[in-house]
Formats: sequence, C-alpha cells, structure tokens
Amino acid sequence: MNGRPVPDPLLCVCGQPMHLKTSRYGPFYSCTTWPDCDGTAALHDDGSLKSTPATAVTKAARIGAHKAFDKLWKEGLMSRSKAYRALAEHLGLKKRDTHIGYFTEEQCDQVLQFVSLMVMEEEHYQRNGPDPTM
Ligand SMILES: [Zn+2]
Repeated sequence: MNGRPVPDPLLCVCGQPMHLKTSRYGPFYSCTTWPDCDGTAALHDDGSLKSTPATAVTKAARIGAHKAFDKLWKEGLMSRSKAYRALAEHLGLKKRDTHIGYFTEEQCDQVLQFVSLMVMEEEHYQRNGPDPTM
C-alpha cells in the first residue's frame, strides 16, 4: 500500500462523512456536505489515502509547502532522502509519517521554516566553508 488505509467511515475535517467521487483526474473523497464544506482527500491508485481530508485552504498550504520543500533536493542542496530525514527530525515525526499530504496548516508553516533554515545553513556554509569544530 502506498498510503494510509481508508478508515470506515472516513470523516471530513468538519466531522461529516466523506464519499467517493470521480473527477477527470480520477477518484477522490469529497465531503457529503459539499458545497457547504470543500473538504477532499486524494487517493493512490491502490485505493489508499494519498492525502488526509483537508479543506481547500489546507490543500493550498500543502501545495506551497511541497513546492518549497522539493526545491531543497531538486536544486541539489541535499538528496531527497536526506531532505525527508531532516524534515522528519525537524517536525519530530517518524519518516513514514512525513508526508506533506497528511500535514495540517501548522505543519505546513513548519515546513516553510525548515526550508528557510536549510537554505540559510547552506548559504552560511558556502560563505564560510565547513565548520572547523565539526
Ligand atoms: Zn466537510
């Protein structure tokens, strides 16, 4: 399984149950109170949860956090697995729980803080070279 199993019932962030819908991008879970609530959850091809239920605002925060985080390894600052390891450590999470698709808005803010910290450290290193005490 690529992601978390879908609980039965799957509850939205608003507390209401969610049901399976199909968009042109494939199946996803939607809040049964839509359009009052815009909560959705994405699925992997194997039917497991790719993201936990979230409102459009939280989803936007996750997308922003993911973009910032991916830059770390896409621009070669560190390897992808090192970036995830460091992020897990920064957030106090297990590596298997470190999926931005599961994050709250608060955790997304922490991802952004983590990314600027990593970038600052790298700039410091570029300017000053390796720390002689390390
Ligand atoms: Zn809802």
